Amino acid sequence: MNHKTRKQAKNAGKTFFRAAATFLLLVGLASCKAQALDRSELVLGTICTVRILDGASNNAMNAAFARLSEIEAEMSANISGTVVAEINKNAGIKPVPCSAELRYLVKKAMEIYDASDGAFDPSIGALVKLWGIGFDNEHVPEDKDIKNALLLKGKENIIVDDKNGNIFLAKKGMELDLGAIAKGYAADQLADILGKYRVKAAIIDLGGNIKFVGKKPDKQSWKIGIQNPYDSRGARLGMAILEGGFSVVTSGIYERNFTAEDGSFYHHIFDPATGYPVRNGLVSVSIISKSSTDADGLATALFVLGKEKGIALADKLGVGAIFIDEDKKLFMNDFAKSCFLLEDRSFTEVNSQLVN
Ligand code: AMP
Ligand code: MG
Repeated sequence: MNHKTRKQAKNAGKTFFRAAATFLLLVGLASCKAQALDRSELVLGTICTVRILDGASNNAMNAAFARLSEIEAEMSANISGTVVAEINKNAGIKPVPCSAELRYLVKKAMEIYDASDGAFDPSIGALVKLWGIGFDNEHVPEDKDIKNALLLKGKENIIVDDKNGNIFLAKKGMELDLGAIAKGYAADQLADILGKYRVKAAIIDLGGNIKFVGKKPDKQSWKIGIQNPYDSRGARLGMAILEGGFSVVTSGIYERNFTAEDGSFYHHIFDPATGYPVRNGLVSVSIISKSSTDADGLATALFVLGKEKGIALADKLGVGAIFIDEDKKLFMNDFAKSCFLLEDRSFTEVNSQLVN
């Protein structure tokens, strides 16, 4: 049963506006409009839109959205009865049988944990729930509660058993949270499905987690605006110009947040070392990569790591990274520089050599 809260319902409204705004960020699509088939639904806590530009069929669209619902039923930590919710409920009690794909994604999340020295941590679900950011109970928890929630994390306490096909969380009370990577995984899955249905060109937009499929009908490159974090939704500061198959994912402090009574601002990306939302001067990180799973996971990971370590990791993994900070400065690695065009000159591009 789906327990969407009032706050989630309110967010759904906001999210719909957000999804519409994402389409404003898709640049140069007017010429493709005639044959386009669009569908948007609220899945995975956000508005998911598929726009097929070439090779459209209702069967392809139906298959894509059926797959999205399947992924949600397995991976959401915020809906009771999902497989992840069952794994969480049985933490410290017993392993829970699950699909190979869920085990794959949890192992992938654990790889990003290793690559980021724990900056990305899928085992911080208890901490995420404690803060409740984006939900009815969002609040600044007491220090002691944060400390207790931090005792419930740890990659070593996630036991993935491929032989017996299950996952076990070793500590009672600990919770898996795949919220920082599941949308990316879903985008990759949808791209595969659309390919199987012979879709030749499409845009998958899962709440701003973008993946381009195939070649644009007018043979031009795909263009996606990067959100100006200081402006209204849909206002871009520049754009990434990419071939088909690429994904662009942004993690930003403007996605989910609240302002406490004393005026302090809290957002939804946590530093697993402190238990508080990350405060490192960044407002957003965008990752460009063929794998949307990687792009999603790494956007969150690099946000926590900060720009110096983040740029080093992006280079090591061969993905593009764009960091935007509170002073409207942009830091990019060479990969990102090769495909990103800054348009809003109130932002300044800083040579990443100066970062290190
Ligand atoms: P994203 O929007 O992809 O950056 O994901 C943010 C979501 O991931 C949050 O709403 C939490 O559910 C979860 N999360 C927050 N901080 C982290 C972290 N350091 N590592 C992994 N997941 C996180
Ligand atoms: Mg992410």
